[in-house]
Amino acid sequence: MDDRLKALERALQDRIGAGRVEHDVPLAPFTTFRIGGPADLLVRARTPRELADAVLAARELDVPCFLLGLGANILVGDGGYRGLVVHNEVGGIEHLGDGRVRAGAGVAIFPDLIVNTVEQGLGGLHHFVGIPSTVGGAIWQNLHFLSPAPARERTVFVAEVVESCVLLTQEGEVREVGVEYLRFGYDYSILHERRDLVLSVTFRLSPTPVEELRRVMRENLQWRDEKHPDLWLYPCAGSIFQKLEGIGAGRLIDECGLKGYVHPRGTAEIFHRHANIIVNLGGASARDILDLIELAQRTVRDRLGHELQPEIGMIGEF
Ligand SMILES: Cc1cc2nc3c(=O)[nH]c(=O)nc-3n(C[C@H](O)[C@H](O)[C@H](O)COP(=O)(O)OP(=O)(O)OC[C@H]3O[C@@H](n4cnc5c(N)ncnc54)[C@H](O)[C@@H]3O)c2cc1C
Repeated sequence: MDDRLKALERALQDRIGAGRVEHDVPLAPFTTFRIGGPADLLVRARTPRELADAVLAARELDVPCFLLGLGANILVGDGGYRGLVVHNEVGGIEHLGDGRVRAGAGVAIFPDLIVNTVEQGLGGLHHFVGIPSTVGGAIWQNLHFLSPAPARERTVFVAEVVESCVLLTQEGEVREVGVEYLRFGYDYSILHERRDLVLSVTFRLSPTPVEELRRVMRENLQWRDEKHPDLWLYPCAGSIFQKLEGIGAGRLIDECGLKGYVHPRGTAEIFHRHANIIVNLGGASARDILDLIELAQRTVRDRLGHELQPEIGMIGEF
């Protein structure tokens, strides 16, 4: 371990506690792809203070640091991550009145936050039922869902129910910002440009009859069952490529005959029900997933002239 990592380990032990810093931790179990080599150091941050302390210590010592939520939009390289991974386990759900709910950035949107708010007859987050995401991850890429019911067909964004966020800013301050600061777009927030981290979010939800919320959730779950892989059977990271306006990356891959294509090692598949998803069939390496990503990009470029850009984050050594 190099000197900076050793210094960081000592700083983390001082600030967060001896015994709280783990070494050479395989990251595969921390991701929905179930793929990825070890992080040099890993801290599980349970409070906003711990999260901020860990990240600031790494920044001070100039050690690379990555904040990981449920790992549902990430491919970690087989060589692992050189530096510190902070696993966001910051919990807490607080009802502030008038439909306003504050949640820690590590709270799982589903099931925890959705079950909690739906039980109270509060609607807005229920659209995202079945999608693996922490509150912080949802802000990072403006979690969204294309509502399937014909009468309501539209994309619903988490931005619609965000009132404010408490951030650890790039400059190292803890600061509350309004929704306009986040500059939400499709698969986008300002967090893509700045090293700000979300510590908690206040949502503004709408009083709605519980039966109505449950009906929408049933419809959405049914739609997901038909299109999306069951994560227990098919570990994956959701859609691999960015949306191509009016075309659909999945449709292009399908047109090239790649839907259902299995890696020669038998470990990964361009999912047979949804060509914009790649699944781990068991024992896939990050390299196997990259092979399929590159195959789809090459084939779609050569045959149809479109460039597919990955939407998922790739971290670590491949
Ligand atoms: C089966 C499946 C279905 C999916 N369906 C959808 C869907 O319908 N719609 C959709 O939008 N997405 C979907 N996704 C993608 C995924 O659910 C979202 O991208 C989700 O928001 C990722 O959240 P996470 O907590 O897992 O973030 P991670 O994957 O852990 O991290 C993603 C990025 O967010 C950053 N980040 C995480 N927490 C914070 C924080 N507190 N502050 C700042 N940055 C942070 C990370 O550093 C990283 O850069 C799906 C994924 C799967 C596996």
